[in-house]
Amino acid sequence: MQTVENCGKLVVDEKGAIQCPNCRRKIRRIRVKPGSELRGVSVQCSECRFEMQVNIDQASATYSSPRH
Ligand SMILES: [Zn+2]
Repeated sequence: MQTVENCGKLVVDEKGAIQCPNCRRKIRRIRVKPGSELRGVSVQCSECRFEMQVNIDQASATYSSPRH
């Protein structure tokens, strides 16, 4: 058995809303302020229920999501 990890860069708009990498809609549940850091925060898209772990620091915003 093999677990494929789906990961990539996150798009965060000027208001700090994260764009869902799966359905491209904005996730309103969480907002990122400039300079804030997130590590391993679990976020689920309310539209498509895509689940991901969010990592944000000052240089980059990325996500990873285990796939079955
Ligand atoms: Zn979504």
